[in-house]
Formats: sequence, structure tokens, C-alpha cells
Amino acid sequence: MVQLHDLKFTPFISESEINAGIEKVAAQINADFEGETPVFLGILNGAFLFAAELIKKFKGDCEVHFVRLSSYEGTGTTGKVESLMGLTESLKGRQVIIIEDIVDTGNTIESIDKILKREEVESYKIATLFYKPAAYHKSLHIDYIGLEIPNDFIVGYGLDYNGLGRNLTQVYKLKNTKMTNLVLFGPPGAGKGTQAT
Ligand code: 5GP
Ligand code: MG
Ligand code: MG
Repeated sequence: MVQLHDLKFTPFISESEINAGIEKVAAQINADFEGETPVFLGILNGAFLFAAELIKKFKGDCEVHFVRLSSYEGTGTTGKVESLMGLTESLKGRQVIIIEDIVDTGNTIESIDKILKREEVESYKIATLFYKPAAYHKSLHIDYIGLEIPNDFIVGYGLDYNGLGRNLTQVYKLKNTKMTNLVLFGPPGAGKGTQAT
């Protein structure tokens, strides 16, 4: 068990399960991008560990960029994605692979979709380490999924609770999820302040 701020979390996904998810995604990307030079676009902060592991497993040439989105408050989503920072290179005509920590409601990837269309990329794919099918309510196809998980709030392996927990090597979930759900997934703005996702 770990305690972060006021909340307790219990072990949920082991390091070996995480690694297996990353291996699976890497194998699919290597097959799909053989002979190509894609641009990996990591979404900070949450995707930094996944991006590092995934990119190390890519067998060809690639570029790597990181951008930041601000969209999430505490443990409840606002449904609002503010901005994308740090995109200094033109992506026009490139094959882009977005690297996300987790796809929850899908608001973030929908926002990125709009931005990449504006950038006139040749194509883009979405790679996410975790995916919550029960929470996802968008129609965008998610190309590469490490692990599907239930609709629990998780921390670890890059994912935080109000800034803490990103360094945990395995993934934990909230203890007593049902009770806390009532509070934590309340109305927009009920969280603890905007932060990088
Ligand atoms: P979206 O709802 O837009 O798909 O997800 C937005 C962002 O919220 C994710 O990239 C991630 O940073 C954060 N998020 C969603 N679900 C969780 C979760 O269970 N735990 C943590 N720590 N962050 C989450
Ligand atoms: Mg976060
Ligand atoms: Mg994210």
C-alpha cells in the first residue's frame, strides 16, 4: 500500500504486466513502421516513462518530441483541454505516433486530433499504455493499447495524484474506489487544481 497526500492506494498492475503491455505495443509499431521514419510525440508529464521504454524498442530511425497538455484536475476530469505547449518542429507531411499514458474520457486525444489535423500531418496513430473502455466516449480509433483497465483511478509508472506517484515502478489504484468515486468524480472543477496530465 502507498499513501499519497490524503489517499491510500493498493497494488494493481505489476511491473511485468506493464512491460508485457509495452512489448506488445512496440511489436505492433515495429511491424507497422518498418522502413519509415515516424515522429514520436510524447504527451507530458504522464507518458514520460512509457515513451522512454517504447522508443528504446523501436528498431528504425525516428524523431522524438514532447508536448504538454493541461486538462485534468485532481482525480476528476474537467473535460477541458487547455493548450498544447512545446511543439517547435513542423509536423507537416510526417507520420506521427502519439504516446499517451492513459486514455480515459478521450477528451485529450480528441484535442490532439484537432491540432494534428491543423498541422497537416500525413497520418497519425495513437499509442496509449492504459485504456479505460468504460470511460471512453469518443469515436477516434485508438491504434495501440498496452493494457485495458477498469474505470478506477490509478497512479504510478508516470501517472500522478496531484503531482505525486509518477516514480512508482508499478501501478496502484485507489483503495475503496466506490466510496471515493462519489467525491472524486464529482462536478467539473471539484478537483485540486489544474496540472500537467
Ligand atoms: P482523458 O479523460 O482526456 O482521456 O484523460 C486525460 C488525462 O487524464 C490522461 O492523459 C491522464 O493524464 C489523466 N488521467 C485519466 N485517468 C487517470 C487515472 O486513472 N489516473 C491518473 N493519475 N491520471 C488519469
Ligand atoms: Mg495527472
Ligand atoms: Mg496523459
